Amino acid sequence: MIPEDYNFRMIEVEFSRAIRLLPDPLINQIAAGEVVERPASVLKELLENALDAGASAIDIRLDAGGVKKMRIADDGHGIARDELAMALARHATSKIASLADLENVASLGFRGEALASIASVAQVTLTSRLRDAESAFALDGGAVESPRPAALARGTVIEVDELFGNVPARRKFLKSEATEFAHCSEALRRIALSCPEVGFTLTHNGRVVQHLKAESLPARVAHVLGEDFTSGARVVDALAGPIVLTGLIGNPADARGSRDAQYFFVNGRYVRDKVLQHAVRAAYADVLHGDRHPSYALFLSLPPAGVDVNVHPAKIEVRFRESQGIHQFVMRAVAAALAASAADAPVPMASASNVTPLPAGLAATGVGDTRISAGGMPQSLFRPAPTGQPQSQAAYFALFSAASSQRVMEAPAPGYMPAALPAGDAPLGQALAQLHGIYILAQNQAGLVVVDMHAAHERILYEAFKRDLDTKRIAAQPLLIPVAFNAERIEVATAADYAETLGTLGFEITPLSDTSLAVRAVPALLKDADARALARDVLRELQDFGSGEVLTRHRDELLSTMACHAAVRANRRLSLPEMDALLRQMEDTEKSGQCNHGRPTWYQFGLSDLDRLFMRGR
Ligand code: ADP
Ligand code: MG
Repeated sequence: MIPEDYNFRMIEVEFSRAIRLLPDPLINQIAAGEVVERPASVLKELLENALDAGASAIDIRLDAGGVKKMRIADDGHGIARDELAMALARHATSKIASLADLENVASLGFRGEALASIASVAQVTLTSRLRDAESAFALDGGAVESPRPAALARGTVIEVDELFGNVPARRKFLKSEATEFAHCSEALRRIALSCPEVGFTLTHNGRVVQHLKAESLPARVAHVLGEDFTSGARVVDALAGPIVLTGLIGNPADARGSRDAQYFFVNGRYVRDKVLQHAVRAAYADVLHGDRHPSYALFLSLPPAGVDVNVHPAKIEVRFRESQGIHQFVMRAVAAALAASAADAPVPMASASNVTPLPAGLAATGVGDTRISAGGMPQSLFRPAPTGQPQSQAAYFALFSAASSQRVMEAPAPGYMPAALPAGDAPLGQALAQLHGIYILAQNQAGLVVVDMHAAHERILYEAFKRDLDTKRIAAQPLLIPVAFNAERIEVATAADYAETLGTLGFEITPLSDTSLAVRAVPALLKDADARALARDVLRELQDFGSGEVLTRHRDELLSTMACHAAVRANRRLSLPEMDALLRQMEDTEKSGQCNHGRPTWYQFGLSDLDRLFMRGR
């Protein structure tokens, strides 16, 4: 009960008194929550700093998975004595000075918060010798005194001791030493691929684990990803204006044996990006047997203004200004590389023996109540491609951009309707045929509906997973015969560390040894998918996004990866009732107008669009 004479203005006063600037150490610890997740994220930041400093050789020494001690030494340009303290301060960077710089950033770092964050959750010592300076100086994080003279021939040495030693709540989230080390070595792998001209040595618990000399890109890829990947790989080399894609993609005929390597770099930065991943997968869809993984190390470069790198504190995600265009460019470039070599090395195409009915679970997925509306189809899908279009494809695009120039769903003229239209016609109509194993053609009130089967099915499954997970957990289907496979150490460690999370997602994946795993259960909706490929994809995502809060943020991404596995592949023949079932399912699924990757799942051609195409004036 508020007393009658209560002075409401007092509340304001008290509120404003309660707001206070947080002390710097606390600010840094809060920021560290985003940048510093585990030793591997510290290593990534420190390696990026060394590269930004122009290092040509970097020496990495880790103890106990990097938790106890990390020491990174580079031969870069160094830091001036008087700037050592600044380097450790928050929002202090030598890399950008203005907004324009930020938009055209060419360095790996620019946020000026990594060192401050790291120093707030570990003991940091920074020792550096500015190029041509007479001596080196060292400074401890949080020190009040000024830098002391130190012995160092060149470059910079950063020592990070007892990560999260002062933040027990964070330290207990760290996994086993083996897992943390596996993550560190993966972080190095990514950096090493991005700069073959730099040499690296990695030592763990006093033992040299990896030594990479400065070398060419193909040699670096071979050393990091293995000869069996490079020997069968095809070269990608494509250019569209200022946009360039180069790299190696795995031989789809020979996916066995090679490491499941999926590395994408944008302007030299390793990124995980759904648009890019999907583009590669789509290019492989026709040639990859079953649900096998494409392996790749691809390097995309484009003008910095075309991509925003400042969307994620660890900068592992990016945002493209023209994401549809990039998707198409990457997809075509990879498809062209696959096709170019198809003549000399025939690749198994999905064939009649591959024809599988829609997974039975599809019909059983839940029912939403959102109906599809006609609007909101991105038009850029139909935009002519930037360069090098084969004739037929150009004609295709021209045809559709004419047809879709008026995108409003128009009611057909009275009397025009074919007699055969079903009673009580559904929004997406009745299936007529399957086109090239990719599209479903259906007739509805307004005219012709074209559905991208794969994209539509993916969306349906994705929404079903989301609903399941919102309520409880995803239903699991134990496998009669567990699927065993040889795995990377990090995959085994991840499966063990995240057994509980995997359970919620409908999986049971248990270690058989240090280097082998068995899949014993998969989500019921995915029981027909390739269990090994599915398990590896999910483990990879957990490995990238594993820790609690990060995983929550990426939950939908994980679900969309899972959905992609079960979704009908192109070239799978469907019966008319199966196609109709898919259409009904789409109508019942929330937001089914777009697949998980933001591509449209269906498109309406009004009768008047078709009339215009045939110059049939009415
Ligand atoms: P950012 O990399 O975003 O600028 P950091 O906190 O990672 O922020 O580093 C702060 C600054 O310290 C950098 O801008 C750079 O000037 C300096 N610095 C850090 N590491 C090194 C290094 N290994 N060699 C030279 N300078 C470094
Ligand atoms: Mg940095």
